[in-house]
Amino acid sequence: MRSIRSLIPWLATVAIGLAAAAAMQQSPSFKYPVHDMARPQPASVWPQGSRAAVDRVPTDAVRLFDGSGLGSWVGGGGKPAGWTVEDGVLAVKPGTGDIQTKESFGDVQMHIEWMVPEGTTCSGQKGCNSGVFFMGMYELQILNSNGNETYPDGMAGALYGQYPPMVNACLPLGQWNTYDIVFRAPRFKADGSLESPAYMTVIFNGVLVQDHVAMLGRTAHAARATYAPHEPKGPIRLQDHGDPIRFRNIWVRNLPAPQVAE
Ligand code: MG
Repeated sequence: MRSIRSLIPWLATVAIGLAAAAAMQQSPSFKYPVHDMARPQPASVWPQGSRAAVDRVPTDAVRLFDGSGLGSWVGGGGKPAGWTVEDGVLAVKPGTGDIQTKESFGDVQMHIEWMVPEGTTCSGQKGCNSGVFFMGMYELQILNSNGNETYPDGMAGALYGQYPPMVNACLPLGQWNTYDIVFRAPRFKADGSLESPAYMTVIFNGVLVQDHVAMLGRTAHAARATYAPHEPKGPIRLQDHGDPIRFRNIWVRNLPAPQVAE
């Protein structure tokens, strides 16, 4: 039988481990309040030139919008999606509400193109706003951020209310923007606590703006995000913010779990 003395180093190791775990559980300290206009504005790197090859769609992609109709989408409460399709372009019909995919998704790669028409009046968050909500909960902001300043954690390419994009890569009104996204769903333990957060990687018009960023929780407005357990899959939702945003060429690829060494 081991003496108490011989157990001391082991107990010390356990205590240090528990202290480290407790420290990791504590919420991080934040330098900026949510939606702080004093947070530095990301530099602008508006891409130039042609946009060849963005219409290529992987053969294993789930086409969510190919220009032909709203067959993959429903409105709130299971109503038919109220947005319009014209000349292969999907348009928010303001006031009809968000639309979401009929199918549920967890980990995905997503491609989506969006545009704010020329002549639209944008004022901060007003006039030119939409968003992609993964699992209906985790928003990648859509907003005209070309010549339209707002709080950095609410601009185009932001994980809304959490992380500004590394740079501002938004094209002017009337031009099509592309998002290529990798979304990793959060994982929850059986007791409902968080096992791993949601992660988002975003390439905006070919420019990396979010690099495997750990989300702080479910998207919230003017409040710090937190997690609550939910199903492993959920619909992808597009936001009707009351503004005339256009979309085309939307697809996702279901992803296997992250690779581990084997
Ligand atoms: Mg939005």
